[in-house]
Amino acid sequence: MAQSMERSFIAAGSIEEAVASRMVGAVVLAGGTWLMRDPLRGVELPEAVVTLHRIPFLSEVIIDADHMVIGAGVTHEALGKALRGIAGFEALVGAAEGAANPGIRRVATIGGNLCSIDFAEADLAPALLACGAAVELETTSGAKRIDIADFLNDRRALLEQAILTKILLRRDLIASAHIRLPLRKAGDYPVAIVSMALDADKCCRIAVGSVEPVARRWTALEQAFAGEPGGFPRDAERAAALAAEHNDFQGRDGTEAEGWYRLQVLPVLVKRGVAALRATEGLA
Ligand SMILES: Cc1cc2nc3c(=O)[nH]c(=O)nc-3n(C[C@H](O)[C@H](O)[C@H](O)COP(=O)(O)OP(=O)(O)OC[C@H]3O[C@@H](n4cnc5c(N)ncnc54)[C@H](O)[C@@H]3O)c2cc1C
Repeated sequence: MAQSMERSFIAAGSIEEAVASRMVGAVVLAGGTWLMRDPLRGVELPEAVVTLHRIPFLSEVIIDADHMVIGAGVTHEALGKALRGIAGFEALVGAAEGAANPGIRRVATIGGNLCSIDFAEADLAPALLACGAAVELETTSGAKRIDIADFLNDRRALLEQAILTKILLRRDLIASAHIRLPLRKAGDYPVAIVSMALDADKCCRIAVGSVEPVARRWTALEQAFAGEPGGFPRDAERAAALAAEHNDFQGRDGTEAEGWYRLQVLPVLVKRGVAALRATEGLA
């Protein structure tokens, strides 16, 4: 589908139309809460945008016994409402309901959060890493499913040719937690985030956001937890001590905090995370 990309606004009626628009240079506009602030970051607004709101499946959350599928166009507000009270997904609810402010959460989407490439502070990225998500992209050659970690690392190249359509999760978690540290007040970006999720085998995935440029799993700490008697730290203090011992992050300097500070707060966030997991799981 050839279209002129001069100052155009396309409300795609199908995912195929949206991908075709993307292939000729249109930029996806979801909630616009990140994109519309491009000029503040010294980036020009795009000449052509394609919106996805007319494609119904992108705004759906499907929850069945074993799996969950979240459309990329689901807003933070809708995500929090859909998942509240579902065992194991406390981290996603915490990320969706703790980010930004009510006005932003009403329009900002999960897809926009994951596709804002130079946005280290994204709340949903570590929460989805901890929960073991995969994502689905729509490309000209069909749907492509990849692990969330690979997506986060390679998304600049992937999104040149694709649109994020779905986030997929297994329902094998018994508890999760999302601990964020904003510096001053609600609405601030978090200076550091620790998300954790525990499955029925006591296997704990831990992810860190906002400390390095891209959120990532804290595998050294996951292994340290697994090496504890019973496969999990006996209490939150022990978890914090392990976090201090296995801190292998390179803190990024930023306007709201320097790198050393982001590293320094991680053990405290781990301590709160383990306390939250134990409380949710009934072990406190
Ligand atoms: C005052 C304020 C406070 C904020 N606080 C927080 C916070 O505490 N935590 C946090 O995580 N975020 C925060 N944000 C950032 C922002 O709101 C989120 O990152 C938001 O989720 C972006 O979603 P959106 O739908 O508005 O994306 P948009 O701005 O529409 O898009 C963002 C980027 O993603 C691309 N994109 C969007 N959807 C897709 C898709 N399906 N496929 C391919 N590319 C896509 C767009 O082309 C664009 O490059 C804040 C923003 C503001 C303005």
